[in-house]
Amino acid sequence: MESLMEPYEQGPIRPPSEADSLLLRLTRNCPWNRCAFCSSYKNARFSLRSLPEIIGDIDAMRRIADKLEALSVRDGQRGTISEGILRLVWGQAPFYDAYDRSMALWLFRGGTSVFLQDADSLVMKTDAVVSVLRRLYSVFPSIERVTTYCRSHTAARKPVAEWLALKGAGLTRIHIGLESGSDTVLTMISKGTTAETHVEAGLRIKKAVMELSEYVIPGLGGEDYSSEHARETARVLNAIDPDFIRLRTLHVVRGTPLAQMMRKGEFTPPDDDRIVLEIRALIDALSGIHSTVASDHILNLLEEVQGRLPQDKPRMLSVIDRYLALSPEQRLVFRLGRRQGIYRRLDELSDQRRYQELKQIIDHYEAQETGLAEKRIALLLNDYV
Ligand code: SF4
Repeated sequence: MESLMEPYEQGPIRPPSEADSLLLRLTRNCPWNRCAFCSSYKNARFSLRSLPEIIGDIDAMRRIADKLEALSVRDGQRGTISEGILRLVWGQAPFYDAYDRSMALWLFRGGTSVFLQDADSLVMKTDAVVSVLRRLYSVFPSIERVTTYCRSHTAARKPVAEWLALKGAGLTRIHIGLESGSDTVLTMISKGTTAETHVEAGLRIKKAVMELSEYVIPGLGGEDYSSEHARETARVLNAIDPDFIRLRTLHVVRGTPLAQMMRKGEFTPPDDDRIVLEIRALIDALSGIHSTVASDHILNLLEEVQGRLPQDKPRMLSVIDRYLALSPEQRLVFRLGRRQGIYRRLDELSDQRRYQELKQIIDHYEAQETGLAEKRIALLLNDYV
C-alpha cells in the first residue's frame, strides 16, 4: 500500500529468522497466491515494482540513517547508534516516526542484514535484482547478508549462471516454502509445484553456494497423508541437503481454502500427538545430510526438537520419545502450558507449583464441558498466526 507520507514501502511478511533484518520491498504480494493453507496475501494483487522505485526506497532509507547518524554526532557519539540514541529515538514519539525507530534499531544491531520482500521477489529480472543488491551494499557498507523468499517454481527456472550472478552481487540466503515433499499433498494444497521441482530448485541454489532454508509444515498432509507427508518430505530433503530445515506446524487459518476443505470434511488436521509422531518419522528418515533443523516458531509444540544433522538426530528423537512417554494428563498440561507461552522445555514439567496451576485450569474447563480444554488450546493457537 502506498502513501505519500511513507518514506518507503514495506510488505507485511518476513521469516521469523529475519526479525533483525531491514525489509526492502522488491515486489508486492504473491504472484501465485493459491496455496490452500496461506492467508498472507489473500485479496492482495501481485505487482512488480520498478527498479527506480526500489532504488528510491534504498535512498530514502539512507536519508533516515543519515539523519540518525547526524543526531549521534551532535550527541558526541561519532555517528554510532548507541543505546542512548536508540532510547532517544524510541522515547520521543512526536519527533521520530516508525521508520526512524526501525532504522535506529537496525543500525543499533549492526545494520548487517536485509530481507527482500515479498513472497517471490526473484520473479524480477535477475539484472534488476543485481542492480538492487549493488546499490544496497554501496549505500550501507555494514551489510553482510541479504536474503529473500523464493518459490521453487521460480528457482527451478532460473539458470545456475543467474544464481551465480545473484550470489556474486551479495544475495546470501534463500528461504523456500517446501511445505511438503509429497506430490499428493502438494496437489491437495495447490502449491503449484512438484517434489521434482523442489529438488531441482534446491540443487540450483546450492550450486551457487548460497545458504538455503527449506520450510516444512508438519500436519499439512492431514490425517490421511500424514505418513506419506513425512516420508516424501524426508526423501526430498535428503536429495537437497539444505543448510536449514525449518519446522512450522500447521494451524488451519479461518477463511483459507484449507479451512473450507476442513468444513466439508475433505481435510482433517492431525492432532498434536499425531503431528509429534509425524515429525519423529520425518527426522528419523533424514539421512546423509548435514542440515540444521530449526524449530523457531511458537506453533511448534516441541521447541527442543532442533539441532545439527547427523550428530543431533538421537537427541532430537529422544525429546520426542520423552514427550510420547508422558501420561495423557502430563501431555495435556504441557500442551496448555506451551500454548500459553509458559513452557518451552519438557524439563519445566517438574515445576510442581506451575504444573498444579495448569492442571487446575484444565479441571475447571472439563468441569464445564468435556473436551473444553482441547478447544481452549486450539483457540490459543489463533493468537500465533
Ligand atoms: S507461494 Fe507462499 S505466499 Fe504465495 S500463496 Fe503460497 S505460501 Fe502463500
